[in-house]
Amino acid sequence: MMLWSLFKIILFVALIAVAALGAGWLMETGGGVRIAVGAQEFNLGALQAAIVFVLFVLAIWLLLKLISLLTAVVHFLNGDETAISRYFDRNRERKGYEALADGLMALASGEERAAMAKAARAEKFLHRPELTNLITAQAAEMAGDRKKAEDVYKRLLQDERTRFVGIRGIMKQKLEAGDTETAMKLAEKAFALKPRHVETGDILLALQATQSDWSGARKTLGAKVKTGALPKDVGKRRDAVLALQEAKDIFDEGNSIRAREAAIEANKLSPDLIPGAVLAATSYMERDNPRYATRVLTKAWQAQPHPDLAAAFAAIRPDETPEERLKRFKALTKHQKDHPETRMLLAELHIANEDYPAARNALGDLAETDPTQRSLTLMAAIERGEGGDDDTVRACLTRAVTASRGPQWVCDKCNQIHADWVPVCENCGAFDTLSWKVPPEGGARIHGGAEMLPLLVSKPAPEAPDTPPTEAEAEVEPPHADYADPDDAGPAQFAPEVEGKPK
Ligand SMILES: [Zn+2]
Repeated sequence: MMLWSLFKIILFVALIAVAALGAGWLMETGGGVRIAVGAQEFNLGALQAAIVFVLFVLAIWLLLKLISLLTAVVHFLNGDETAISRYFDRNRERKGYEALADGLMALASGEERAAMAKAARAEKFLHRPELTNLITAQAAEMAGDRKKAEDVYKRLLQDERTRFVGIRGIMKQKLEAGDTETAMKLAEKAFALKPRHVETGDILLALQATQSDWSGARKTLGAKVKTGALPKDVGKRRDAVLALQEAKDIFDEGNSIRAREAAIEANKLSPDLIPGAVLAATSYMERDNPRYATRVLTKAWQAQPHPDLAAAFAAIRPDETPEERLKRFKALTKHQKDHPETRMLLAELHIANEDYPAARNALGDLAETDPTQRSLTLMAAIERGEGGDDDTVRACLTRAVTASRGPQWVCDKCNQIHADWVPVCENCGAFDTLSWKVPPEGGARIHGGAEMLPLLVSKPAPEAPDTPPTEAEAEVEPPHADYADPDDAGPAQFAPEVEGKPK
């Protein structure tokens, strides 16, 4: 704007200079113009001629304007009632679009009040509410005038062309105000109007997931895949997650037959979804079908070994001997042999079978290469089982206390650690972002660790060295060897146990 004003000033000065030069030149040359009108003759000097010429141009311009006004009047007299108003409308339109452009400019430069004033002016001349209301709504949002913005959005709802903008605007307001129920209804409407609109689809899906409307979310997801807004494989995986939640809800309602089918369907959609495989295995067991239960768990283990899978696998035959168990678990342990989870599982099974050399062999150097609470505790159990002295066992356990807890359910987006798998992150609300992995530094130790170390280290040396202390024995109980109750097993529950014992 500054530049434009400067330009205009320079142009004006330049024009004056040119005119002055031209006038001077005309006077010097002494030329003239002779105009004859009828019998009369006018002799004009050069300067007068130039002035007359300018006046002449001006007169023609006025004449043309007058003619078009007269034409409009003639049309009006001939019955065209809007002819005159149309003539003036052309001026109004020009002024209207100027105001509209100024309004947009003010909006872009963050001058909300000016934008609103220009929009009102544009509306006065143009009567195009679908255009001017958009500017007013945006400006009101920017100025933080929620009431005004909402009023304008409501006006936008009335026009077919702007209904979507209106719904989306009100939906966002409701979301900010925390009224998720109304926001969800509006999101449904907006999504129905524009199923290809990615943002609306995402908002609707997230709302449905947080409100546990799993079947609704599956429909939205299906529509997103159908319109190509979501790749097919991602859609399938997410559908499996939603189907799994749906199945869990049906279980809670008590309709176990339908729930079983839903769980099995979810597992088919995404066989490597660990909680899905566990639920499907449980469903198969309720149908007395251990073969299929074994199959779904093995398949998931092949994709990613996980303690929950091992626990569900153990639950297939809850009262077999350690030897039988070791044999049956070969279905799992023959896959992913070098995976730490497989090695620890095998070590646990051997410990339960009291075959400590085999357990040591299965664990290998895991306590050194991947020292976690679980691998170090297993090492301690092996040392104890092989008759190692208390110092060695205690050294192992001391290391275990400060060691990493190993992989956990961690949100890929915000790194929040969850005790159990959930479809929606409890911290950031993201959908299907939980991975079984070692949390990044910082978030790793939520509780336990260094602060209880002095308790263990300053523990008085056993008074009767010939009788092994029962405490240590209890401590080295491998956390995962007995899968009778999957909820009680696992490294997640192990730390508090250590915490409790030394007191
Ligand atoms: Zn998160």
